[in-house]
Amino acid sequence: MRTKERLHFRRRLLEWYDVDRRDLPWRHAPDPYRTWVAEVMLQQTQVATVVPYYQRFVARYPDILTLARAPLEEILKSWENMGYYSRARNLHKAAGQLVSDFEGVIPNDYPSFKSLPGVGDYIAAAVMSIAFGHTIAVVDGNVKRVISRLFMVDAPVDHSSSAKTFKKRATELLDASRPGDFNQAMMELGATMCKPRNPLCHNCPVREHCLAQRNSRQTDFPVRRRKKKIPEYHIAVGVIYHGDRMLITRRKEDGLLGGLWEFPGGKVRDGEAPEDACKREIEEEVNLDVDVTGFITHVDHAYSHFKIGVDVFACRYRAGNVVLNGPIDHRWILVDQTGDYAFPAVNHKIFPHLKNNDKAK
Ligand code: SF4
Repeated sequence: MRTKERLHFRRRLLEWYDVDRRDLPWRHAPDPYRTWVAEVMLQQTQVATVVPYYQRFVARYPDILTLARAPLEEILKSWENMGYYSRARNLHKAAGQLVSDFEGVIPNDYPSFKSLPGVGDYIAAAVMSIAFGHTIAVVDGNVKRVISRLFMVDAPVDHSSSAKTFKKRATELLDASRPGDFNQAMMELGATMCKPRNPLCHNCPVREHCLAQRNSRQTDFPVRRRKKKIPEYHIAVGVIYHGDRMLITRRKEDGLLGGLWEFPGGKVRDGEAPEDACKREIEEEVNLDVDVTGFITHVDHAYSHFKIGVDVFACRYRAGNVVLNGPIDHRWILVDQTGDYAFPAVNHKIFPHLKNNDKAK
């Protein structure tokens, strides 16, 4: 794009953003902390889902100190069902570091902020540009889609080798006089106009600058690598009843779904019957001898890089004391107490099947 065109592009995009941007709660009274929380949530979750989580989160943790002092488990509970829980763990850890090393405020300095847990290029660029006016281009999935169509970029959007290409294009476009608004406008354009399918080109404020639109090739961009088949795992879990209580265990704090609660269980081995896998996993994880008394339900769940199919069995406690091997904590709870703990989404698919379950009794 030539300089004159670029200036026109910036003006059109910002004029559109000033008038047509969505009314989102983090745009009301922006401050670095709120911008950070919103961007962390928005990194892997849709805006409509984020809004109520964000509102509850900043009401409960209105500042960095409150967040740093809150127990991790409570924060995971406020994050429940939004997924990608490492975001919540890192937010909490980073808040602690901000209190200990930065007097409880977000530093107005890209390298210092980026040194915090969970703060990568995207979060650092977004917070520094939106909250402090740094001239740093933000590149997220929406921005990549817009750029790939504007310039008909052949580089695949889902490969790390293309990162430099998109960053360079985004940096060239960036309006240095309003970097925060410009970055948000690019993301907004991707989210509301330049949609993955059926982009609304007839209403697009920058359509005259768009090569893909000019060549009627919007659907050819963005380019993606051919997807690898996502692996699928067969899991067996046991709801172990002991009287009117059932056993839940807490995952260790690092790794996938770290710090959340679940029913004991694990992968079914090749050739193994799921109920045998359930019994074996329970022995290995919590050292209990149980009878598998019935099949409760099957639930499927997809994560970003794999899928699971879960067979859920009712089990009756026979003998043994809980000795944890893997999980870091356990509780014997009533069915009605599941709301007191943070569970992964897949467990919420299981809970409705437990209410009237009498298979173990
Ligand atoms: S004209 Fe269409 S394809 Fe091009 S940026 Fe706008 S919405 Fe996207």
